[in-house]
Amino acid sequence: MAPQSAAGGLGRSYRLRRKIGRRKLHDVSHLVKLKVLGCSGGIGGRYLRTTSMLIDNDILLDAGTGAADLSLTELSLIDHVFVTHSHLDHVACLPFIVDTVGAGRSAPLVVHAIPETLDILSEHLFNWKIWPDFTKIPSAERAQLRFEPIAIGETVSVGTRKFTALPANHVVPSAGYQIDSGRASLVFTGDTTTNDPFWVEVNRIANLKYLIIETAFCNRERHLAEISKHLCPAMLADELGKLSGNAEIYITHLKPSEIELTMREIEEYAGQYRPRMLQNNQVFEL
Ligand SMILES: [Zn+2]
Ligand SMILES: [Zn+2]
Repeated sequence: MAPQSAAGGLGRSYRLRRKIGRRKLHDVSHLVKLKVLGCSGGIGGRYLRTTSMLIDNDILLDAGTGAADLSLTELSLIDHVFVTHSHLDHVACLPFIVDTVGAGRSAPLVVHAIPETLDILSEHLFNWKIWPDFTKIPSAERAQLRFEPIAIGETVSVGTRKFTALPANHVVPSAGYQIDSGRASLVFTGDTTTNDPFWVEVNRIANLKYLIIETAFCNRERHLAEISKHLCPAMLADELGKLSGNAEIYITHLKPSEIELTMREIEEYAGQYRPRMLQNNQVFEL
């Protein structure tokens, strides 16, 4: 980068930080915002990005390719990443984020996930072969990345925002998350197939407002949904029948080539729950 543009960048970054700093204070006492950065089962073109959501300005929920749209300043403000599971469409940007902004941050980027997921990330991603182990860079004492295990059912508070790990049923160890602002909760299933323990927990949430649930396959591919432990519309209808309270339902993780067909089938099978397709850049307020 030329010195001039670097200086210009710094100026913008400083102004944005100040603005975001003020907004953060505002958020703590008022609204928690969740913005969808990616919610597709694949990539392609200007609108398809894999799973990632930005909470206020400092937390990511999964770090799929959607996180790549954040600016350098926005990336540098991320302090925590809650990861549902180790599949690439949910963690693809994690190595790049820590590599891009880790050295300039005063604190490590904290990755929260169930212990099995953290073990997989250590063994198969941050293993010096696919990517350097940033939990030891530049040294173990001053590492740019920190892994923080969370157990299913455990709640972690980040400021006033509470994250509770929920059970998921997928081909690798997985979790969903409840995000509770104190006024309202949003639940994200992560990747999952049919899963009764999940609904037991969700039905206990008194302030549930939004439910984001996956439907990765169309009904024709039910067999694939079953063996890869995802949902198809017929399975989704069975699952939503287990929800006892009211919530706005949003569908995520649609396969790019089957979006229209799958949404039509969802309407046919689960229309009574009024599910809507989750949109990129959609913002939820809690
Ligand atoms: Zn998955
Ligand atoms: Zn996935």
